[in-house]
Amino acid sequence: MSDPIWAIAIHGGAGPAHKEDYSEEIAHMRGVLKEAKRQLAKGGAALDVAQTAVRALEESGHHIAGRGASPNKDGKWELDAAIMDGDTRNAGAVGALRGFRSPIDCARTILDVSPHVFLVGKGASRFLKKRGLERVHNPSRYYKPSVQAAVESGELQHGTVGAVVLDSEGRLAAATSTGGLLNKQPGRIGDTPMIGAGTWADERVAVSCTGQGEYFIRCAASADLSARIRYNKSDLTNAAACVLEDISYLGGQGGLIAIDRLGRVTMPFNTISMKRGFATWRDELEVKVF
Ligand code: ASP
Repeated sequence: MSDPIWAIAIHGGAGPAHKEDYSEEIAHMRGVLKEAKRQLAKGGAALDVAQTAVRALEESGHHIAGRGASPNKDGKWELDAAIMDGDTRNAGAVGALRGFRSPIDCARTILDVSPHVFLVGKGASRFLKKRGLERVHNPSRYYKPSVQAAVESGELQHGTVGAVVLDSEGRLAAATSTGGLLNKQPGRIGDTPMIGAGTWADERVAVSCTGQGEYFIRCAASADLSARIRYNKSDLTNAAACVLEDISYLGGQGGLIAIDRLGRVTMPFNTISMKRGFATWRDELEVKVF
């Protein structure tokens, strides 16, 4: 019998480089992939593995997501996240969420127990508090923004985190979490939690995007990638390249990771760098920034 096929890709955001040495980020991302490999090799479910990987990236503080997120223009932390199960197309998402430690766990809770897909504002907080999701009571002490310098320049900095996974049962899942664009307007929600823009999974492909979210929303980027495979019969790499070409054509910057049912991975970006990596059943494991 042939080995079961499984694979995972993760990202830590696309953008200009804000330093030369990414060895800590690379080492941490390798650790995340090794743990995901372990889970997938023993039959872990794509949805769980995607959530666990993104939670670890949030907690690391290395990216503009979770602990490493930056505050908005008003000095408040508002975070976005989404998770989608390609097998059932169930999805959960939170937008401009304040005061919770793991936005991806919040999104997963919505997927699991809410009839809705996307919750924001006070209603989201009330719902999540009731379900006992871990809180951040003192944001200025908890958050350690991973990028400070570029706030003034208005430059896009890379930081959103994401994971796309194929498990040994052939199920696909995608998860994405972000602090959003640096110095963003209060109330601004990006592409990350919008199903079909920054996050998507179905029976063909799982996609997680990063970059200037407004462009990814306007291109319905992640759903478009799937549609190109479905209707256009494009292969994964070509479909992803065409989506990014659309983003570039509108003047947007960013990148994405995508994985298909055969465990093929593509990770295109049009920025200087994108923290990214993948691991597969073939014993491959690689992390790169440039
Ligand atoms: N896409 C994210 C947003 O627009 C930002 C990023 O990926 O860095 O909120």
